[in-house]
Amino acid sequence: MRFYNTLSKRIEQFESIEKKSVKMYTCGPTVYHYAHIGNLRTYIMEDILEKTLEYIGYKVIRVMNITDVGHLSSDADTGEDKMVKGAKRENKAVLDIARYYTDKFKEDCDRLNIKWPSVVVNATSMIDDYIKFIEHLIDTNYAYLSGGNVYFDTSKLENYYKLTNHSEDSLLEAVRDDVSTDDNKKNKTDFVLWFTKSKFDDQELKWDSPWGLGYPGWHIECSVIALKYLGEYLDIHCGGVDNIFPHHTNEIAQTESYVGHKWCNYWFHPEHLNTQTGKMSKSSGEFLTLSLLIEKGYSPLVYRLFCLQSHYQKQLVFAYDILDATKNTYDKLIKRINSIKDDDSVLDKEIIDVYQTRFREALENNLNTSNALTVLYDLLKSDVNNNTKIYLIKDFDQVLGLNLITNKVIDNELEKYILKQIDLRYEAKKNKNYALADKIRNDLLDQGIVLKDTREGTTFDLVK
Ligand SMILES: [Zn+2]
Repeated sequence: MRFYNTLSKRIEQFESIEKKSVKMYTCGPTVYHYAHIGNLRTYIMEDILEKTLEYIGYKVIRVMNITDVGHLSSDADTGEDKMVKGAKRENKAVLDIARYYTDKFKEDCDRLNIKWPSVVVNATSMIDDYIKFIEHLIDTNYAYLSGGNVYFDTSKLENYYKLTNHSEDSLLEAVRDDVSTDDNKKNKTDFVLWFTKSKFDDQELKWDSPWGLGYPGWHIECSVIALKYLGEYLDIHCGGVDNIFPHHTNEIAQTESYVGHKWCNYWFHPEHLNTQTGKMSKSSGEFLTLSLLIEKGYSPLVYRLFCLQSHYQKQLVFAYDILDATKNTYDKLIKRINSIKDDDSVLDKEIIDVYQTRFREALENNLNTSNALTVLYDLLKSDVNNNTKIYLIKDFDQVLGLNLITNKVIDNELEKYILKQIDLRYEAKKNKNYALADKIRNDLLDQGIVLKDTREGTTFDLVK
C-alpha cells in the first residue's frame, strides 16, 4: 500500500508499527453547524483509506474526536468562538447545539456509507486529561503561563514546521490579517493550551484548573484523545488539508514534546472541494449540505461516487451539472447491475483472482479510486459469468460503499407502492392528521425514498 505522506512530502510505502494492525486518528467535526459537503469529502476519502486497509488485510482501529468545546472561528486563536456563535444563532445552550449537530453529522455519515469510527470521544469529556497533559508540558518547560493563559513555547522545538512548507516569513504573510497581536506570547507561533483570559467573555463552558477557571485551546483535544486511546505511537493521522497548519503542526509540537519521540508516521490529507467561485464555506454563497442535495433529488451515494471519480489529492470543483452527470452514471450502473441475474454459473476462482488483484492494485497505488471504478466497469463489460460478476461486485463494494448490489432501480411494483403511500399521505393531510402524514413521509425516507412536494403534486426519488 502506497499513499502520499504529508510529513515526508512524497508517496510512500505504508508500513504499520504492529503487523497487520493500523492505529488511525481522524480529526472530527466542530459541531456548531451542519457539515458542508466539502467537509464530507474528507470523511469519504478517509473512509476509503480505512476500508482499503481492511480490504488488504489490516485490522484498523480508528479514533475520532467531536469538538464540542470552544473553538475559535479563525485558526490563529483569534476570531469568534464557533460553538458560542452556533448557540447564539439558534438561541440554545452550547451542549444542546453540540448534541444536535453530532447527530446530524452521524446521519450524514450513515447516508454516505462512511463507517463510524471504533472510538468517538467528545472533547468535553477529557478535561482532566488535558490539565495533566498541560501540567507536564509546564514542568518540562515546553509551556509557560502568561497573562492568565498557558502557552506552548514553539521556540523549544528544533523544527516546528516539519509538516508544512511554511517558513516564518511566509506564515507572517499568510495569516497577517488573522493574527491579532497577543503580547502574552513569547513567539508569534506560540499557541494557547489553556485559556483563562479570553477576549470573548461569553464562553459558556468553563472548568476549574490550576491556572484558574477556563477552557482548553483547540489543538489539545486531538493530541490527548489520540494518546489515551491509541498510545504513544500512531500509524496514520487524517484531516482536511486546511488542518495541516496550524492544527496538525501544533498537535505534533505538543505531542512529541510530551512523549519525547516521533509520534505519528503518516499524515493523510484529502484536498478541498471548491465551488466554481472559490473555496467552499458555510458563510458565503449557497450553504451546501448533504440534506440540500437530497432535497434537490440527489442520492447521497451519487455524491460519494462524485468524490470517488477524482483523486483525493486534487482540488475538486463542485457544480450541479457535474453532479447531474454523476447521477446519470450512478443510475445506469445500478440498472446494469440489477440486470445481472443469479443463475447456475459456477464461481470462477481464477477470474476472481485476476479482478481482485487489479482492483487492489488501483487502490494500493495512492488510492486511485477512479482506476478502481474502471476495474468495475471492465468487469461489467466482460463475458465473465453472472455469479462470478455478482461475487466480485459485492467484494469491491466493501471499499466503494455504493450499495451496488442492494440498491434497486424503481420497478413497477415499487412505483405502485410509493404512489399508494403518497395517496395515503395526501388523505391524511386533508384530514389534518399531520402526525400520520409525517409518519408516512419518514417511513419512506427510512427506505431511502424521499418525497418532494411541488406545485404540480408530490414526486419522489430514491436516496440510497
Ligand atoms: Zn484534530
